[in-house]
Amino acid sequence: MKNITILGSTGSIGVSTLEIVDAHPDRLRIIAMTAGKNLELFARQIRKFKPRIAAVASAEDILPLKELCSGLDVTILGGIEGLIAAATADEVEMVVAAIVGAAGLIPTAAAIRARKDIALANKEILVTAGQIFINLVTEYGVKLFPVDSEHSAIFQSIEGHRNEDIQKIILTASGGPFLNTPKSELANVTVRDALNHPNWNMGKKITIDSATMMNKGLEVIEARWLFNTPPEKIEVNIHPQSIIHSMVEYVDGCVIAQLGTPDMKAPIAYALAYPERIKTGVKPLDLTKFSGLTFITPDFEKFPCLELAYMAMSMKESMPVVMNAANEIAVAAFLEGRIGFMQIADSIKKTMESHESHEIFTIEEVLKADQWGRDTAHDICLELVN
Ligand code: NAD
Ligand code: MG
Repeated sequence: MKNITILGSTGSIGVSTLEIVDAHPDRLRIIAMTAGKNLELFARQIRKFKPRIAAVASAEDILPLKELCSGLDVTILGGIEGLIAAATADEVEMVVAAIVGAAGLIPTAAAIRARKDIALANKEILVTAGQIFINLVTEYGVKLFPVDSEHSAIFQSIEGHRNEDIQKIILTASGGPFLNTPKSELANVTVRDALNHPNWNMGKKITIDSATMMNKGLEVIEARWLFNTPPEKIEVNIHPQSIIHSMVEYVDGCVIAQLGTPDMKAPIAYALAYPERIKTGVKPLDLTKFSGLTFITPDFEKFPCLELAYMAMSMKESMPVVMNAANEIAVAAFLEGRIGFMQIADSIKKTMESHESHEIFTIEEVLKADQWGRDTAHDICLELVN
């Protein structure tokens, strides 16, 4: 039996993780879970999975959640202390980090310090604090399993091979909903168009990140840290069918890839049960149904966010933090209808241009750069519309 905490159980990854837990009650048990806002769904999850601890992001939501959970044997906590308590509960062996954005940094770092293995969906953690987290993982001797489908694919393609034999990591990208939209039309796309992802059903933030291709930029940075690979060895290929989830090219010219129906339950289950493979309900792939798998080089001009991510990665550590913060602010502004689609990249670029990158050694410094990035991006978004 593996005891688990889910940070972000009400999100898209959280819900898929619970589906896997539900299908394997003999091997997976929920000890604690946390949520941001959706208290009704959270209460239903608590009723069903009976965690010992449930924590909400805002302390103000403790009382309303207690009311929704009356009669249940669960300790309800709130605020950052609550999230940390959930992440570090004694009997927990693995923490699924499925909060979205830099908000996941503190509870996930606490989990590592409490020697919990991590199943990592929350890519913004490695984007903003990659070196710090990799150092923590080493210092506390915990295992870090990727949940992101591309990184799970690389993880599966890398097993049994030597790091020095890797020539290239090739991250595949669907290209999102605007792959075939001319650049001139991108300024006028709506929130609804951008949320209409062709292959994956995900949370709103990552869905917009996929439409701008910032998601792939974040994933390049994530891959750099997870696989200790220099940025120049990480390439992005657009593969609209999302069947090959990523590939690793070796010095002998061989390429190893992982394929499957696009469904996050597969990489989640692999992280939860590693090194075993468990049933997921994911439809097996019938390759005869695909008339062709295609691959395209990404257009950096049409998707400037991807280039911004490569640029941020080549600078000192504070730049990816600021880029990520600016992206979080810009995506929220776009979702609220305050800025247009192309202004997401514009505002991130402007925020980065007004930042002088510097070295970062601690999570506190990450949070400080993150706050600077948020404040600056917020002002820049306001300027853009006025
Ligand atoms: P989501 O928005 O659906 O869910 C996010 C979860 O975090 C929710 O439970 C929410 O309540 C909680 N949360 C949000 N803000 C919070 C805060 N400030 N404090 C505490 N909790 C907070 O997001 P998602 O799509 O499930 O994505 C989660 C993470 O996984 C992201 O980093 C995303 O990039 C990554 N990821 C997601 C997918 C996917 O298919 N959805 C695939 C790969 C990677
Ligand atoms: Mg991904």
